[in-house]
Amino acid sequence: MDVSIRNKYTAVIGLEVHAQLLTSSKIFNGDSTAYGSAPNTNVGVITLAHPGTLPKLNRATVECAMKMGLACNSEISAWQIFDRKNYFYPDLPKGYQITQDRTPICMGGYVTIHTKSIGKRQVGLHRIHLEEDAGKLIHLGGGTDTLADFNRSGVPLIEIVTHPELRNSEEATVFLSEIRKLVRYLNICDGNMEEGSLRCDANVSVMPVGATEFGKKVEVKNMNSIRNVQYAIDHEIERQIELLELGKSVISETRTFQASDGRTYGMRTKEELNDYRYFPDPDLSPLIISEEWLNEVKASMPTLPQQLQEKFVKVYLLPEYDAAVLTETRDIAEYFEMVCLHTGNFKAVSNWMMGPVKSFLNDEGIAMDQFPLEPVHLSSLIKLIDEGKVSFAAASQKLFPVMLKDARVDPFELAREMNLIQNSNMESLSALTDEVIKEFPLKVEEYKKGKKGIISMFMGEVMKRSKGKADPKIAAELIERKLDTL
Ligand code: ADP
Ligand code: MG
Repeated sequence: MDVSIRNKYTAVIGLEVHAQLLTSSKIFNGDSTAYGSAPNTNVGVITLAHPGTLPKLNRATVECAMKMGLACNSEISAWQIFDRKNYFYPDLPKGYQITQDRTPICMGGYVTIHTKSIGKRQVGLHRIHLEEDAGKLIHLGGGTDTLADFNRSGVPLIEIVTHPELRNSEEATVFLSEIRKLVRYLNICDGNMEEGSLRCDANVSVMPVGATEFGKKVEVKNMNSIRNVQYAIDHEIERQIELLELGKSVISETRTFQASDGRTYGMRTKEELNDYRYFPDPDLSPLIISEEWLNEVKASMPTLPQQLQEKFVKVYLLPEYDAAVLTETRDIAEYFEMVCLHTGNFKAVSNWMMGPVKSFLNDEGIAMDQFPLEPVHLSSLIKLIDEGKVSFAAASQKLFPVMLKDARVDPFELAREMNLIQNSNMESLSALTDEVIKEFPLKVEEYKKGKKGIISMFMGEVMKRSKGKADPKIAAELIERKLDTL
């Protein structure tokens, strides 16, 4: 789209993010939440909504929601109820979904996003509420049959709703990455968008620059990666601008994103407003969160990524960039700190983590928790380099790969076995230098007469006799000093 046309409009985006909670049982009964079970095996009578069955709230799900609220600076409600959202659909055996309509567990709050192009800014949250997931419908290719798998029905979710404060797809995706990072740090959701445990609906509208009233919004669903959220929003903004430029108007509707062509397609209009007939679920008593309970959960909170990032800059004196990369996951940050317990060269640890360690993880397609090396072995390796015993090249290309295969080996022993110890031992180096100088009196004469370049010949001899293990810088200094004082 022509930039001059694009620049006539401001986009307005609000996200609704669903996160599947990592509790082992469902939100209102004891059925398992295990992903990938055979269809309809985690389905007791409550999940299937047999008449006469009653829901009972799972305390662990409430704590997950409280943690997210605390991490997002939200206010945690002391008193709340659950509501029935009524609609008829084959994935919903009860005919209603239990959710929180007017009394969400968390109110307000914000998430800070920070990148070079955006700068640092707070994205306001409207609310976070608890609800149950629906089942899954499977439409068999080619046929007309639909199969229903109720394993997912009753799986606990939190829904995080932002204010319409995001202005472009970059802000939206950075926000979403931040949410994913947070739920993973808190260990309340695995954050996997491909498997649908983290889902994002994007509400998008456009208005002329300077307008005070938002345009009509469209809700886009069905993006299964952060990248697709970006594509969907970009496409939707352009589609709406094109409509307005043609003098047409945007219809309030729900659209679905199709990854194959990067476009959105209409699903249902919102003009004919759904009436969900929300009302309090009479089967569940109000949920009361006492001061004491809230304090317990507060005390169990891990250090959050933003705090860690600040710590990494302040305590380990890392550049902002390193601090951001190393706090991407809790495991990476913890590993970094464990290595730093054994060495003071924090920047070297950071370089190793962002370089050889990260490449290894990428190549193997594994996460930090599967990294085979003990932190103390990585610090030993760094120490060997700092002490001049091995070069970085030898350490990263020769020692490191062997250590990854056999995590128990001591790097110093290994370097000795592999004959990689550099000779920076002054005594033996000094003896070698004397030996070489004594053997080439004619060359020494030449040097004395001003042929300084001859020094490289002495260097070559010393390096050869040390079998390449002499530290070249130290060797050169030594030779020059000895020749000059002869
Ligand atoms: P609805 O009643 O249609 O569900 P809500 O007011 O609950 O709408 O808002 C749902 C989401 O849509 C929120 O994330 C909110 O920030 C966002 N939103 C609201 N109005 C707009 C708008 N005009 N443009 C873009 N997003 C919007
Ligand atoms: Mg809504």
